[in-house]
Amino acid sequence: MDLSPRYTFKDVTEIDPKVIQGKKLLIFDIDNTLFYSETTKIRKDILHWFKGVQKKQKVVCFSNSFTIRERKSVIESLLGCEVYLSRERKPSKKLFGEIIEKYKVSAKDVLVIGDFHFTDVLFANRNGATSILVRPIGGDHKLILRLARVLENFVLFVLEFFSPLLGKD
Ligand SMILES: [Mg+2]
Repeated sequence: MDLSPRYTFKDVTEIDPKVIQGKKLLIFDIDNTLFYSETTKIRKDILHWFKGVQKKQKVVCFSNSFTIRERKSVIESLLGCEVYLSRERKPSKKLFGEIIEKYKVSAKDVLVIGDFHFTDVLFANRNGATSILVRPIGGDHKLILRLARVLENFVLFVLEFFSPLLGKD
C-alpha cells in the first residue's frame, strides 16, 4: 500500500507548473483542497489559480462527501468544471477506471490532487497515476474529520516505523 505522495505542496496555488504540464487529466479533490470543508466557499486566489489551469488542462472534480450531490451545481458553475458523481468512492479502482474511460486518457497521464493520504494519494498511487498532496485549507471543523486526520497520522507513523520489516508494498 503506497501512501507516499509523489509531490507535496502547501496548497494548490503552490503547485509547480512543471508537474502539471504534459498531464492529460487533473482529478481534483474538493473539500479542503479547493473548497472549505462541506461548503461551496472557495478562496479567491484558489479560484483564480484554478481558472488559469483549466484554460490549459482537462480537469474534473470528485468528492467522497455525502453532501456533494447538493453542492454539485454550485461548485460546477463556480469552477466551470464537472463534478463527477459515482456510486464508488476514492480510492476505488473501479472509480478510477470510470473516470479515465469517460475522459479517454491513460492512467500515466493523470494527476490526482488532494489533501488526504488514504483517499487521494492512494487513489493515484494504486491506479498508476501521479499523486499530489496539499495541506488541508481551513482545517477540519468537524470532529469526525479531525479524528480521521489523527488516525491517518498515526497509521502513517506506524507504517513508516515498521516499513523496514514489512518491505515494499
Ligand atoms: Mg479533501
